[in-house]
Amino acid sequence: MGDFQVDIKPTTQFELFAGLESTDHEQIVFCQDNATGLKAIIAIHNTVLGPGLGGTRMWMYNHEKDAIKDAMRLSRGMTYKAAVAGLNLGGAKAVIIGDPKTQKSEALMRKFGRFVENLNGKYITAEDVGTTTRDMEYVAMETKNVVGLPEIMGGGGDPSPVTAYGTYMGIKASAKKTYGSDSLSGKSVAVMGIGKVGWHLLEYLNKEGVKLNIADINSGILEKAANEFGAIPVSSDDIVGLDVDIFAPCALGGILNDQTIPQLKCQIVAGAANNQLEDETLHGNMLKNMGIVYAPDFVINSGGLINVYSEHTGYVREIAMNQTENIYHTILDINKMADELGVNNQIAAIKHAEKRINDMMHVHSTY
Ligand code: NAD
Repeated sequence: MGDFQVDIKPTTQFELFAGLESTDHEQIVFCQDNATGLKAIIAIHNTVLGPGLGGTRMWMYNHEKDAIKDAMRLSRGMTYKAAVAGLNLGGAKAVIIGDPKTQKSEALMRKFGRFVENLNGKYITAEDVGTTTRDMEYVAMETKNVVGLPEIMGGGGDPSPVTAYGTYMGIKASAKKTYGSDSLSGKSVAVMGIGKVGWHLLEYLNKEGVKLNIADINSGILEKAANEFGAIPVSSDDIVGLDVDIFAPCALGGILNDQTIPQLKCQIVAGAANNQLEDETLHGNMLKNMGIVYAPDFVINSGGLINVYSEHTGYVREIAMNQTENIYHTILDINKMADELGVNNQIAAIKHAEKRINDMMHVHSTY
């Protein structure tokens, strides 16, 4: 989450614990293996609700402290995402320091899998930026605590259709809050980013008779989607300021910032992209003050996490879709909480997650 700061200075003096005092992480595991060149950090933020689940990112970090910060920041985000999705999961994340193009090998991924196994189920891994389903197959040779596997291995396959369904549910709930009805028929929606999620979202919206405007930097996919859904293609620069009812960002993070928010003419912002608000408090408040109903990103796009969680408990797509449908009610609850507390929707979503963790901590206080 954007407000999270951790100050780690392990260079001249070893002050790692001093940095950790400013956070509430449960455990940070350093994994080192000279033979394979593995240097990984597993950050377990919170396991009150269940084992910490979060993907493994492989990245060329400039400094080791950047890798630690990234693992800590991302693991904290996973705690909130799982909590608000109503899952019995905590938050964790792993990073492997290195170039995924040149430094990855079967041995490195399997060695990493051994470290995951040694955590005895407290951490469940999955693919992320710089790692692939194939890498997770190697990890799965050493531990059962891995999700995001191909369907032939009992996995849930591509989570994007489930993420898109959750996003659609979040858009409908936001419409209910704004217009008093969740029907999207005749409404105009601007979808930015026609990737794996954006495409499936267009299918749902098109079926409900939505007037579609679309943008993507990939002109091929833009033309294909325009033909398939009768959507109006616009440039990526113009899509934000279109005079539409709903803006659905499904491409990049940080799309809601000082420059873009004043351009918005919509009543609702609800899309799948991660980390949409450049600054959660500042930009969340700007949207609120403009009377725009914002669907918090980590709530509306939690279908992907729900999908992999369902894999851990024995994958059935119908169950994953059913649970994803709850995003509709969660978005309505968050809007209500935001009104009651007088805070923006992103802050209300964080409070909603914290409340569930605190409530369950109490439930777990007796055997
Ligand atoms: P994707 O890479 O398949 O699609 C992203 C699309 O955005 C691409 O078509 C790309 O060309 C386009 N794009 C990039 N920059 C753009 C710009 N400036 N203007 C317009 N289009 C641009 O990714 P995806 O899997 O569809 O995910 C979309 C977003 O949703 C990402 O932010 C991702 O982190 C988030 N998300 C995805 C899932 C999932 O299940 N795939 C789950 C949770 C969150």
